[in-house]
Amino acid sequence: MATVKDLVAWIEEQFPPALAESWDAVGLVCGRPTASVRSVRLTVDVTPEVVADAIADGVDFILAHHPVLLGGVTSVAPDDHKGQMIHDLIENRIALYVAHTSADSSNPGVSDALGALLGITEMSPLEPVSGIELDKVTVFVPTSHVQPVLNALAAAGAGTMGNYERCAYLVDGVGTFLPLAGADPHIGQVGVVEEVAEQRLEMVLARSQRTAIVTALLAAHPYEEPAFDIVELVSADSHVQGTGVGGVGAQGLGRIGELPEPISLRDFAEMASQRLPTTHHGVRVAGDLDRLVRTIAVCGGSGDSLLGTANAARADLFVTADLKHHRVSEHLADDGCAIVDVAHFASEFPWCEQTAAILQRSLVESGDTVTVTVSTLVTDPWAAHLS
Ligand SMILES: [Zn+2]
Repeated sequence: MATVKDLVAWIEEQFPPALAESWDAVGLVCGRPTASVRSVRLTVDVTPEVVADAIADGVDFILAHHPVLLGGVTSVAPDDHKGQMIHDLIENRIALYVAHTSADSSNPGVSDALGALLGITEMSPLEPVSGIELDKVTVFVPTSHVQPVLNALAAAGAGTMGNYERCAYLVDGVGTFLPLAGADPHIGQVGVVEEVAEQRLEMVLARSQRTAIVTALLAAHPYEEPAFDIVELVSADSHVQGTGVGGVGAQGLGRIGELPEPISLRDFAEMASQRLPTTHHGVRVAGDLDRLVRTIAVCGGSGDSLLGTANAARADLFVTADLKHHRVSEHLADDGCAIVDVAHFASEFPWCEQTAAILQRSLVESGDTVTVTVSTLVTDPWAAHLS
């Protein structure tokens, strides 16, 4: 029988955490890795209603798109809805995994699912990633503690290059410092200049792992104030145009592709409203309703930051969510492409169905009897739309 650990491994192959944005929080939120899984549920949002539904249906693994806990969490006490949900999940032995921007940039991913539902083919990323974005950490460690620090950084994910792990570069040097009053130095004493045999330790890391690596470094380093720095690395082929980044099948944010035939903006919007889940937000359209559209850019979720990119890529139309008044009116005044603005939830819901189908197929092929379902709850927060 599949376990939580098996599901996490499958998810992270489909949606590599290294593709997530550095500010994001993807991964397993709760659930014991060894626990058995018989029923998986996909959802865009984790809400109290979604959790109650999962409990009632005997679900034991939720794969969600939006994070529940994102930065600055110091408590999951059940005195707000998030703390209550975390308690409900753990008490009912339901694991929760979040695939957020890792699912946005992977292929297939959130925007592929939206584009496919809208009949768009030959899709390539609007903003391709040329691979996993890397940082490099440099830390100065007393020679006696180099191996424990190196091991801790490797355990947190640093130093992985191709088929090699624990890759590091070490060079000898001397560190010097003067502990001031109030300091509690690991080596030396207050008021005395100290010189220590140290090594400069360098390791690469995926940018999305930065927080975990710094946490591991601070925990393993013996000094009160470890000296370290992190720099962002530039891809070796980033100066060469068209060297395999982008294109059909590539990873990255948003998608751009073609409809089989040009259709009017009005007909496209009508088709979108029929194919996407029904919400009170509905489908809003900006631009000449009679203009023909064929090259379509999409971005599941809040795609404001890709509006200019879609326009520069000569899209006839950009389909996304959460666009604001001034942004749209100024874009149109500058002869920008047409816009279809749908509910944030609706734009990402197709990912649930796409992922559920791929996961179910994969589980059947491996002989597992896990059932995979998609939440039928509409988590769009709006309750009415009057006009
Ligand atoms: Zn979203």
